[in-house]
This record gives sequence, C-alpha cells and structure tokens, in this order.
Amino acid sequence: MIFSPLPGTPLISQGFGQNPDLYAPYGMAGHNGIDFSVPEGTTVYAPHDGVATVKDEGTSGYGLSVTIEDSKRKSVLAHLSAAGVATGQTVYQGDPIAKSGASGNATGPHLHWTYRIMSGGAVQNKDNGYDGAVDVTEFTRLWLDQDLHHDAEYTDDAKAYLAMTFASNQYLDNPNRTA
Ligand SMILES: [Zn+2]
Repeated sequence: MIFSPLPGTPLISQGFGQNPDLYAPYGMAGHNGIDFSVPEGTTVYAPHDGVATVKDEGTSGYGLSVTIEDSKRKSVLAHLSAAGVATGQTVYQGDPIAKSGASGNATGPHLHWTYRIMSGGAVQNKDNGYDGAVDVTEFTRLWLDQDLHHDAEYTDDAKAYLAMTFASNQYLDNPNRTA
C-alpha cells in the first residue's frame, strides 16, 4: 500500500497525463506524475519504504528532488526546498523526508510525484509514453473528496479507492509522522 506524501486532504493541481502539448517537447505523452498545490515548506512524507537518493538540478528540471526506491517501486518527489534525508539512507513509509518548494522548472510552489513500478532492478512499462511512470492514484487510497479525474483514466478497482474516506490519523502507524 502506498500513501500520500502529504497529510490531510491534498489538492491535486495537475493530474497524470494532463497537458499533452506541454510535455510533448520532453518526449512525454503528458504530465508524468501528479502535482499537489501546497505552500513552500510543507513537510513531505515517504509514500513507501525504500532507499533515498537526493539530487539537485538547480533551476532546471526537477530542481531539488528525493527519489525513494525499493524492489517494487520508485517515487520521485520534486521541486523541493529542502531534503531531510541523505543519498543512501533507508527511509520508511511515513518518515518526514523533505520540505516542498518551487525549485527547478516550476511555475510556483507545488509537490510533484512521479511513480514507477520496478522489477528486478528495472523500470517496468518503459515504453508507455511516460518513461515508465504510471498514475499513482491507481495504487493509493489517499484520495478523499478531491477531483482527481482530469484527463486520467482509472481502473474500476481504483475508482473504488477514490470514493474511500477515512480519518487523517487512520492511515499510518509510523511514530515519526507528526500530521
Ligand atoms: Zn508535475
């Protein structure tokens, strides 16, 4: 199970697959992740266990990002203002790992989350038009009453999760989580 990197009810400002024209120059069929509209400095939590990699692309691309990878999945959390973990560090789901920001190629403060499925050390679905990125909302149960539909498509199973409601303190037992 994967959880939201943000507490509460995050607002999705750009869905997976949105704005194909904008991403065509990058060789993408559309937005290859999801964007949360959050103020700079918002605490970002690990959506799943894994080993962290911190990368700083300066004012281009993802800017400051933290990647978390284990044998089955890889998340990139991008446009950060600060990283709270170091490259090579093992993190656990719910650990605070960063502060959101507007670094890199970003029009304003937001958190970008790209999600890929891994197997045998390799990204799966590499030729899906998104360099293997998939719509993480199909794998989460974090979505409360948000409008996540945009141009994305959802499986029937995923749609059931979109309607799921639960208390904000119900989805993680990690003692490190403060919100
Ligand atoms: Zn984005």
